[in-house]
Amino acid sequence: MVDQNNNLMDKIVALAKRRGFIYPGSEIYGGLAGIWDYGPVGVELKRNLKNMWWKSMVQIREDIVGIDAAIMMNPRVWEASGHVEAFTDPLVECRIDHERLRADHEDEIKAHEKKHHPGKSDWTEPQKFNLLVKAYLGVIEGKQQEIFLRGEITQGVHVNFKNVVDSTRIRIPFGIAQIGKAFRNEITPGNFTFRSREFEQMEVQYFVKPDEKDSLKTFEYWKKYWMDWYIKLGISKDKLKFKDHAPDERAHYARAATDIEYQAPWGWAEFMGVHHRGDWDLSRHQQYSSKEMKYKDPETGEEYIPWDIESSMGVDRSALFFLIDAYSENKGRVILKLHPQLAPYKAAVFPLLANKPELVEKAKKIHLDLKKDFMVAWDERGNIGKRYASQDEIGTPFCITVDFQTLEDETVTVRDRDTAKQERAEINQLRNFINDRINNHQTD
Ligand code: ATP
Repeated sequence: MVDQNNNLMDKIVALAKRRGFIYPGSEIYGGLAGIWDYGPVGVELKRNLKNMWWKSMVQIREDIVGIDAAIMMNPRVWEASGHVEAFTDPLVECRIDHERLRADHEDEIKAHEKKHHPGKSDWTEPQKFNLLVKAYLGVIEGKQQEIFLRGEITQGVHVNFKNVVDSTRIRIPFGIAQIGKAFRNEITPGNFTFRSREFEQMEVQYFVKPDEKDSLKTFEYWKKYWMDWYIKLGISKDKLKFKDHAPDERAHYARAATDIEYQAPWGWAEFMGVHHRGDWDLSRHQQYSSKEMKYKDPETGEEYIPWDIESSMGVDRSALFFLIDAYSENKGRVILKLHPQLAPYKAAVFPLLANKPELVEKAKKIHLDLKKDFMVAWDERGNIGKRYASQDEIGTPFCITVDFQTLEDETVTVRDRDTAKQERAEINQLRNFINDRINNHQTD
């Protein structure tokens, strides 16, 4: 089982590189640990994921607005948030081979011993390391200001809480959504992009009136919301589960915390978290900035610091789990059964024969026309079977072939990735056809 699973990760890493999803960062220089680059199809997958998320949060809902805060922030932010003192994971170092591992990752410690020096165990006491990545602002050596690249995107929302309330008509309960990069000096990056040192997060901070019972209802609402969201976008239901944090496992300020975990090839792994942060962040910023963070209810005049129910997920982790979950093989051929909304290309267009100018010309016209609305691939190499196989590997849901019949009746063959069934469709209906299938796609 373990071998099979490792094998699966090897296949996914190889496919990702071969087809342009994900490459090792600065690979020609030997790479940089925990850093990855997205290729032409990977960037589309990630963009589609972010767009779906933004649509669900900001576009459709009345109660959530979006922001895009800077990666570099005044260093006082990280003192207020507690990161400077507490954004550290106690580590232990192996005295035998100097490997450093997180003290709370007992399984990894055991696995390390077993692999490198079975029966021998000699670790240092846990020590704290700061996970925030340092940077320096200013051009004059010696006069530069030391800052941190943000270790989470959350704080950009909290420091702008008042700005958002004052500049919009949004009223509690409401959320502020954000997507952006975060940086952490992870000690043990690994499992492909799962634990990277530069990654993207998508978060909603949902602000509610301080009330124990009601806020817990909101917490439960978001837990269910995200579980349903990922299932609807195609993640297998039986590979997802909630993991509630026991009081001693959660951050000291959290009133409740749950992770959604995915059954990755290497075991259950955190996908995202829903955290009840109470008034921790806003109160701390009020204290550190001496700026009032209270919200005033325009109807009742009540004033309070709201509580925050946070939903936080990694874009890269989600993209990786979508890739893993979509990966399937049929008679040695790879089919990436991505939800059409996430698929890098919605369709591919082929002329049946590359040496028949009338077919190529017609197919080119369809390709250019559809490209105005969708990402559409083009292929005229090899035979149709090979082109189907090539599109299946990157998850393209529909392949459109222009053949001799097309020249007579303005119809094309549309072949479905998942069923391999072919049907005729009218050229002038293709746009509707694709839209309809994308929007009404049912996941298994
Ligand atoms: P872990 O326990 O795996 O380190 P965490 O509990 O520190 O994660 P949070 O701080 O809650 O993670 O971050 C929220 C989300 O951001 C995570 O659920 C994950 O999807 C993503 N994330 C966090 N750290 C990384 C990382 N190093 N690489 C990729 N994604 C990450």
